[in-house]
Amino acid sequence: MSELNLVLLGPPGSGKGTQGERLQEDFRLPYYATGDILRAAVRDGTDLGGEAKEYMDRGDLVPDTVMVGLIAEPVSRSEAADGFILDGFPRTTAQAEALDTKMEELDRALSAAILIEVSDDEVVRRLGGRRTCIKEGHIFHIEFDPPKNDDICDICGARLEIRDDDKPEVIRNRLETYHEKTEPLVSYYERSGILRRVDGSRDPDDVNDRIRAMLATLRMEEEL
Ligand SMILES: [Zn+2]
Repeated sequence: MSELNLVLLGPPGSGKGTQGERLQEDFRLPYYATGDILRAAVRDGTDLGGEAKEYMDRGDLVPDTVMVGLIAEPVSRSEAADGFILDGFPRTTAQAEALDTKMEELDRALSAAILIEVSDDEVVRRLGGRRTCIKEGHIFHIEFDPPKNDDICDICGARLEIRDDDKPEVIRNRLETYHEKTEPLVSYYERSGILRRVDGSRDPDDVNDRIRAMLATLRMEEEL
């Protein structure tokens, strides 16, 4: 069986995490979300984790070399021998290049960079509709999962509010940053011929079907 070494790309609210978890089940591949890896390395006090912590404690970004080292560790594990799903890394072209170099060292290569595409308006609709209760953090959505009474939590009766992160202007800002950082990455993977675009505006089952179909095609092509 050929390896499935996957990178997931997509804006906040694209359902990237959901799709990553589904793919993890579908293909029995480890799913590595960068934030989790970073936190685990810091918690376990590994050399790289310690190094990363120094930067984070200073409020600095963890440099690419440290990030690549952190990602290289799980990717080299035996559980990832048949492939892996990376989410949240790479974030920049420099990181993508470093990842390619690392993969070459391991005598492997990325199979696909899957871009889950969702329009900015749809992201604002998805994230901006969230209402969070101030007491327990229960989450509702004015469109997809509305509370019985406006502004009141069905579960604990507390008031519902729009978290700062879910305010349209904040979402737009995050999207701007996302486009700025991710577009060069998209071009990078387009040039290397492994970019696969998936329409993320459909419902999660449909998106999952399309990704699986795309990966099945990819494997067939490899076998030819
Ligand atoms: Zn509540």
